[in-house]
Amino acid sequence: MDIPTSSLCNQNIEKKNKFSLQYGFVFLFIISVGLNIHFLYFDKPVEVASLKLGVETGLPQNIEKSLPEPEALKKEIPEPVLKAVVQPVSYVASSAETLEGKTVHSLSFKVRSSLNRTVCKIVTRENGCAALAAHMGRLMAWFVDIKKSMRNDDYLEVVYQRLEGPEQFKILKLSYKSQLFGKTFETFYFDAIDPGSGGYFDSEGTEIAQRIIEAQSPIRKYTEITSLPGDFRKGMGGHSGTDFKAKVGTPIYSGFSGKVTRVNWNVRANGYCVEIDHPKLGIKTLYLHLSRVKVKPGQTVKGGQQIADSGNTGRSFAPHLHYEIQKRKNKKRIYNPFTFKHHKSYTRKIPSQHYQAFQDTIKLYNSVIKES
Ligand SMILES: [Zn+2]
Repeated sequence: MDIPTSSLCNQNIEKKNKFSLQYGFVFLFIISVGLNIHFLYFDKPVEVASLKLGVETGLPQNIEKSLPEPEALKKEIPEPVLKAVVQPVSYVASSAETLEGKTVHSLSFKVRSSLNRTVCKIVTRENGCAALAAHMGRLMAWFVDIKKSMRNDDYLEVVYQRLEGPEQFKILKLSYKSQLFGKTFETFYFDAIDPGSGGYFDSEGTEIAQRIIEAQSPIRKYTEITSLPGDFRKGMGGHSGTDFKAKVGTPIYSGFSGKVTRVNWNVRANGYCVEIDHPKLGIKTLYLHLSRVKVKPGQTVKGGQQIADSGNTGRSFAPHLHYEIQKRKNKKRIYNPFTFKHHKSYTRKIPSQHYQAFQDTIKLYNSVIKES
């Protein structure tokens, strides 16, 4: 069969015409959409600029809005300049006994790369940023495992005082907004329950740090625990004990019954010190940086018996007790007293008669953040 070629050609031409009409329409449509987008967004440089500005400078204050940021947005924003409020605020404290007349500092910032690096961008090394960061890390470790759960842009607020002596701080309030957990952890210092035995409590009044029960505690009056076994700050293997910050002369007790094996060895590093053997428990306990030792080698002691006074001797930068629990046959195996099976621990609650004062204290600390 002969099919007339002309008709075939015509059909093709007609199809081509239809196609080019369709393409033409689509092309025009795309152009018009493109123009619309252009006029809508790019013709308003002022708005675009202010939008960017809002994202970049809204670090501390607009945290609620800027967290969490969508991934795509994060990539477009250049590394934000760390803007934090560092402002000494002296204020008239209503809880006059503890705070009056003392200068209080506050910082609020987002974490970038690490807590230590971020704090050291705001507070200089000369001003003890590393010690302050470690201090904050120590407190936060009661809530979360920082190494695993801290993220860039997690938000922190801290209210603190500088104490006498280099790198000495007292944190009054710490608030940590974790993206991973989707919540804010807060803690406030309060010591009116038992002056000299202050502690950090959450806003409901539960202490965040644990305490060893009195009958087994090497120390009963201390201001805070400043270091736990394995702390990153103290060299390669980490810190080998638990540090209790306490005034020189605070009574020190044997944690358990046992026999004193040695006292005052390596005084240059340990200061005056005591080591007690507890064969039944398979451990030895060590007490370092004492001001006075009240036992002799070979002497048996009971759990809860006073063996010394705390001090600041040896390699120690501030008065504290270093308490160490070693495995008897392997002194490199160190136990954390709060997970060690023979130590019983508990957490305190603010008693009802102090609850109002505690709430007032929270308000006071919060007002420092707002003012600065
Ligand atoms: Zn120590």
